Amino acid sequence: MGRILGIIGGGQLGMMIAEAAKKMPKEISKVIVLDPTENCPASQAGAEQIVADFKDKSAILQLAKESDIITYEIESGDSEVLKSVQGIAEIEPSPETLYIIQDKFLQKSFLSDNNIPVPEFVKISSIMDLKEKLKDFGYPVLLKARRDAYDGRGNFKIDNEKQVQNAYEYFNGQNLMLEKFVPFRMEVSVIAARNTKGQIKTFPLVENIHEENILRETLAPARVSADISKKAEEIASKTMSVLKGAGVFGIEMFVTQENNILINEIAPRVHNSGHHTLQSSTTSQFEQHLRAILGLELGETKLEHPTVMYNILGPKSFEGRYKPIELSESHVYLKMYGKQISKPLRKLGHVNLVGNNGETLEKILEKLELIKKKISVQQG
Ligand code: AMP
Repeated sequence: MGRILGIIGGGQLGMMIAEAAKKMPKEISKVIVLDPTENCPASQAGAEQIVADFKDKSAILQLAKESDIITYEIESGDSEVLKSVQGIAEIEPSPETLYIIQDKFLQKSFLSDNNIPVPEFVKISSIMDLKEKLKDFGYPVLLKARRDAYDGRGNFKIDNEKQVQNAYEYFNGQNLMLEKFVPFRMEVSVIAARNTKGQIKTFPLVENIHEENILRETLAPARVSADISKKAEEIASKTMSVLKGAGVFGIEMFVTQENNILINEIAPRVHNSGHHTLQSSTTSQFEQHLRAILGLELGETKLEHPTVMYNILGPKSFEGRYKPIELSESHVYLKMYGKQISKPLRKLGHVNLVGNNGETLEKILEKLELIKKKISVQQG
């Protein structure tokens, strides 16, 4: 008998998990998502929906009663509430793992206690404390909100003493940490999986290009030496072995000027930089996540073809309906998320450009320039 899967969050990640679940009818009989937006992307992919806030306790309890196993596509869930329903449904990754990850200071402390390399960081408890610690850290630094920050919205770069007061006030009393600014050579990530039995597998290292703190392009594989890839993948495996959570995790890292690897951040969920796996690998990150939480043997993670993923973001110039985006090019896979309304920098979809006949990443990037014109978002 298949199990009923509950997902907290029904955006594009929940949608692609639900689509992967449909291909495993023996293991998963039904998907229910909890999401505040009616007709959310995952419900368009056939999932049942409970319309409620992600943190609504009674809705989470209802989801637990109706599901056998619960997972999540967002990291801002209430780990205490999830803990309280653990006896009713299985929660994967576990609320204990989520608790560590969702607080950037706890996350970095945990990694550094386990000898996993991270940028230099420290907890900040007041403006006096900040000024004191800056004497050691120097400039530039990043002041970061410890919780509920994503896509860079919780960071303030401080370049000199004059900005300190402003930076502190920007956070309005939130819990903070300070981190040395890393003049990185490249941002990279590893999509890693650990199943409930402890088996661990990593997808190959990819390169991420951000614009305004939002992921714009992922290049698979990353344009680094085999040594660096190996080092990053080993660090990702070690992270998964100490974290002990089951599921797919997106592990974001910096390659420093000296070719060292530092972990920037872990997402306890499927990750935007893993979308290329939908076409570039035999197992997608979404199927891998389901295999991991169901305790199945993890799938093959080899990169079959070099691939570039490009995010389709809402333009800054308008908010509202947009013209349908269509594309019919060979080896180019368009995935729209069914969002009716475009907002500035909102993730509306993505394309994967898959190399064929030995095409190199450079060739694919040239092709992307032509494709970009065909998928630009127009008000309509
Ligand atoms: P975060 O939300 O903390 O993952 O940060 C968003 C983006 O800010 C990252 O993708 C990096 O481009 C940048 N960033 C974060 N931490 C640092 C750091 N310590 N040094 C340099 N850039 C950083």
